Parts: sequence; C-alpha cells; structure tokens
Amino acid sequence: MKIADLHTHHPLCRHADGNPIEYVEAAQNAGLLGIGFSDHNPMPESDFDSWRMDLSQLKTYLEDIQDVKRRAAPYPVWLGLECDYIPGYEDWIAHLAEQAPWDYLIGSVHYIEPGWDVDNPDMQDRLDGGNRERIWQSYTDLMVRSIRSGLFDLIAHPDLPKKFGHHPPDDRRRYYEPIVKAAQEWDVTIELNTAGLRKPVGEMYPHREFLELMKTAGVKLAINSDAHRPEDVGADFQDAIELARELGFTTLRRFEQRQAIDYPLP
Ligand code: ZN
Ligand code: FE
Ligand code: FE
Ligand code: ZN
Repeated sequence: MKIADLHTHHPLCRHADGNPIEYVEAAQNAGLLGIGFSDHNPMPESDFDSWRMDLSQLKTYLEDIQDVKRRAAPYPVWLGLECDYIPGYEDWIAHLAEQAPWDYLIGSVHYIEPGWDVDNPDMQDRLDGGNRERIWQSYTDLMVRSIRSGLFDLIAHPDLPKKFGHHPPDDRRRYYEPIVKAAQEWDVTIELNTAGLRKPVGEMYPHREFLELMKTAGVKLAINSDAHRPEDVGADFQDAIELARELGFTTLRRFEQRQAIDYPLP
C-alpha cells in the first residue's frame, strides 16, 4: 500500500498513545510510502482546552519529529500540524506557519461555536436536540472559511459532526457542495479519513456522496488514518483505496515543504 499517511498524532496532545518511533515502525510494517505527523496545534492561551500541546511544548514536538526523521531515514517522515480553524485566530495560524519547516498544515473544524467542539464526547448531548440544522450549517460555513483563509494545504474529516451518528438533517449535498466548491477554487486537498470507522458512526469521513462531488470537481484527495495510537497507522487503507478507485480517483496528493506532490493511487 504505497500511500502516505499524513494525519497522525503525538502523545503531547494528551489523548494519543505511543512514541513517534512506534508510529513510524507501524507505517513501515504496513508498507506505507511514508508517514506524516500532524498533532493538534498549540493555542496562544495555555488553558484553551484539554486536548492539545501547550505552546511551551511545540519545541519538544519539533525535536521529536526531527529525531524520528533522522532515525528512520531514508524512510520518509514528514512534519505537519493539525490546526483548528477558529475565526479570529487566522493570524495565530499564520504565526505558527513560520515557526517550523512544515511539510504541510492541516485545517480542521472541531469548534462549531466558541466552547463547543462538536466531536467532544462530553458535548454529545448538545447534538441530540433540535439543532442539527444549526450544527451542520455552522460547520459548513466554517469549513468554507477555513479553505478560503489560504492557510491550509489539506482539510481534515470534512463531515465531522456525524461522528456520533448525527447525519445532516436533509439533503446532505446542501452542506457538502459549498465545501467542495471552495476546495476546487482554492486547490485545497481534502482527506478521506478512516478514523470514522472506529467511531460510533462507523463510516469514513467524508460520506460517499461528498467524495463523488469531489471527484466531479477535480478536488485532490489524500487517504489518512488520523491515528492516535501506533496500531491505527494505515488502518483500513485497503477499504479506502477501493472506495477511491470505485469513484474514479487515480491519484493521491501528499506534501513536502508545502509543495503538493501527486502520486498514483495504488
Ligand atoms: Zn486528536
Ligand atoms: Fe481532528
Ligand atoms: Fe487528528
Ligand atoms: Zn483529526
């Protein structure tokens, strides 16, 4: 499976397990093309939430990845960061972008409103009320803004609010289309993320219809695991490859020093 897994985490975020070298070994054992680390970005406020590294730990993150990169060479290890897109923090992300020789930055929307991270199990009761429309509309708007910010190379789990099974309330394409259109206009890559299979929803992010729209629009694809432990690196990639092929994709995209590189879908 000559695929680059660009979305994996590091224990500094306080909800991932294992050492980076174990992630690299897992990637090698799975026969992957290479592995990219993309832990959750630090925020300027050290008490922002409980699931990311502190700003003071960014240096450790960079040193750790640099260290495994050296140890694994010539096996490819890439340096990335999964950044929360939150209106008002664009300058912060731009600042982070200058702090290291990133291979790529991933843009994610977890916060659909201040203080409401839609994938947080502790916030799940908020999903059960009659606010599904509001959740998906807010998520879609923020995803479009994240793409149009020009800050990101790759967009993560593009239909995350379904994590616990709360699918869009009506015609799902109404929520997918603006995101795909923005990605097309800005030539931003979107991932097929297998982590959803390990979540209550039991399906990859995004939904098949979202991928169909991407294919039609010519939006580039990456296949990622979002592993938070070494054993999930490359998880279910065979299924993801088959789905992508079935929909007509022939290439995948990866990044080095923020330059896009297209390679054949196996
Ligand atoms: Zn995480
Ligand atoms: Fe995420
Ligand atoms: Fe992630
Ligand atoms: Zn993620």
